[in-house]
Formats: sequence, C-alpha cells, structure tokens
Amino acid sequence: MELSYILNELGEDRAQYFNAIAPPIIQSSNFAFRTVAEFRAALADEYHATLYSRGNNPTVDILRKKLAALDGADDALVFGSGIAAISIPLLALLQQGDHIVSVARPYSWTIKLFEKLLPRFGITTTFVDGTQTKNFEQALRPNTKLIYLESPNTFTYELQDLGAVATLARNRGIVTMIDNSYSGPLYQQPYKMGIDLVAQSATKFISGHSDVVAGVVTGSRQHIQKIFEGEFLNIGGNISPMNAWLLIRGLRTLPLRMERICSTTHTVVDYLAAHPKVERVIFPFHPSFPKYELAKKQMKNAGGLFSIVLRATMLQQVEIFCNSLQRFFMAVSWGGHESLVIPSAVSIRPEEFNPAEERHRLIRLYVGLEDADYLISDLKQALERV
Ligand SMILES: *Cc1c(COP(=O)(O)O)cnc(C)c1O
Repeated sequence: MELSYILNELGEDRAQYFNAIAPPIIQSSNFAFRTVAEFRAALADEYHATLYSRGNNPTVDILRKKLAALDGADDALVFGSGIAAISIPLLALLQQGDHIVSVARPYSWTIKLFEKLLPRFGITTTFVDGTQTKNFEQALRPNTKLIYLESPNTFTYELQDLGAVATLARNRGIVTMIDNSYSGPLYQQPYKMGIDLVAQSATKFISGHSDVVAGVVTGSRQHIQKIFEGEFLNIGGNISPMNAWLLIRGLRTLPLRMERICSTTHTVVDYLAAHPKVERVIFPFHPSFPKYELAKKQMKNAGGLFSIVLRATMLQQVEIFCNSLQRFFMAVSWGGHESLVIPSAVSIRPEEFNPAEERHRLIRLYVGLEDADYLISDLKQALERV
C-alpha cells in the first residue's frame, strides 16, 4: 500500500460525513441498536462491533487502520499511553509461571513493569546484552514465552539484530515484541522482519506536537483480537476520540517531519562529533557507531534522538552546559516540534557523580523542527561555557 494513500485515504469514508476532509470526532461513549438481535450479536463479538468506546470507536478505528498499514501488520490497538501499549499486551499474553528474556536497560517504566509489576503475578524476566543474538538464546528456559526488544534502545541506542532474534524465537514458538518508538513505522518495520508485536509511544513522532500522550501496538489479527478481548477491555486503556483525531492529524505530516528532523539531526551530530569538548556522540547513523552496518541494514534512517558524552571531570560542567542552553528545553519526552535536553546525571544524587562512569557524563539531546543553524549556535555558546 502506498504511504500517501495510507496517510490521506485509508480508513476514511468521507461520504458518511458530509464529504468532510477532516474526519469527525465521534465523541460518544455508547452506540444504539435497533433490535435485540443486533445488540446480542454485538455483545457476543465486540471486536467486530461498535458498541462502547472502551472497545471500538469510529474515530479511533480510522487511526487503527492507518497505524496497522504503516507497520504492514493486520491490526492495531491504540492506548491512552505508550506504556499501556506495552503493559496491557504483556498481561494479555503471559500467564503465571512464564518467563521473559528482555534486552537490558529498556525504557524506565518497562524496567519497572518487569521488575515490580509482573513478578507479583509470578512472571519473571532475565535481562541480556542484546547486541549478541546468542545471549538471548543462552537465557532461554523451558518456560520462556516472550522475547522483548527495544532497538535502538533508550539513551544509548544499542541495536538488536531483529531478523536473527525473530528466527530464533519462531523456531521455538516464542512470541517476540519490540518497542519501536525510536524509529517509528517509517524508519523501521519489525513486523516485516518477523517480530510478532510492535509497540510504540505515539506521544513521540506520531503526535509530533507535544500535546497528546498515547500508544499503539500492531500485530497479527489473532494476537490483536486476543489482546482486545482480554486485557484491553478489562483494564480499559483506550484513547479518547479527541486524542485519536489529533494523532490522525499528526500522521498527515509524519513523513515531512521525519525527513526534516533527520536531516537537521545529521548536521547537528556532525558538528558535535567534531567538537573538542565532546568525547563522543552516540547515534546509530553516525559512522562511529559500533553497529553502524546493522543500523543501515535494518533501519531506513535515524533522527531526532542521540546522546553525547561530555569531556568533563565535574558534575558542575554537565550542569553548566545544560543550564546554558536557551533553545533546547530541559524536559522529558521527545518527538515533538521542540528540541530537548536531558542529562543522564539528573537521575543520580550529586555526591554520586563519578567522571570515570561514562553514563554520568551522558547527555541526551532531541532535535525538533528548528533550523540547524539556530540549534548549533546555541550548542556552541553552551559548550564554550563548560
Ligand atoms: C516515551 C517512551 C515510552 C512510553 O510512552 P508514553 O507514551 O510516555 O507512555 C516507551 N518507550 C520509549 C522508548 C519511550 O521513549
């Protein structure tokens, strides 16, 4: 299916709503039936029915069709947050006594899910260095039901070989799931590489305007229907029609925004990589990246998020750099129009700072839609103050 068709036409039946170009926000919790027979049929098969907006909603449906097609998957479910799009499918697919093999250091709330919430239900997780596929294989147990990936992963962008892990899991009947937030559907398509479930935080690139929190998971009809009928309906993590509408609007410009963000990121990364106060940059599409070849093989491009290791001996230098930036907001999240900065040291106590630990000098940057020169002049003055 052509990208332009997906973003401009798919799922939209304009004749049903006055030929409006923009879809309606069907802000209704419930939908009426004419006969008991129709009502009964809807209750018996809510996955295929428009009954109640905790399940299906016509505005959300348009978004689901587009998101599934973007990943090349059968269906999508949209949630009220990215982390719900990870937690709820895992609760739906796993049982007491099951075991997960996960890539080390996924997104912070995913770590909490694996270390705190799932163990309360008898589900355990082994974390492995995902840069070597054999580490996943060696951690498998007879009760391993799921392999969890995040490639590139948060803050340090280590890659996993998606095709190789998919083959390993398929041969053993193990389900694979990935957090694909970093690349999004345009730059990495794990479902087409054999990964079963593709989650992403739609808060980031899909929304693109820093005004919605949402998440999506895509996969086969069978997997998505199982998640829908179980924990999606029971836990109630659905998105509102208004927020779904904002995500549809975000999708219209997704390719343009991604292109712009990527080209600016490459310019900014090249500037920083050559700067004497920067020890190294960590960015999957920079030639210095250890898995540069794999990045080019399984991703179409990369942009927006990267990290730098500052040449610093004191925490004060890290803080001066971040405090001096005028055009990068110091804030969580990413994927919006605005550039952002987070020092890794924000999550340690000041007295713990140790310059020998590279991660204490690690600073994550996100490049938004601003001009490259505008951002580079800001980075330049902040680095001069370090
Ligand atoms: C932001 C983020 C999430 C969580 O998404 P929310 O929409 O904030 O719930 C999950 N994974 C990654 C990699 C993220 O960056």
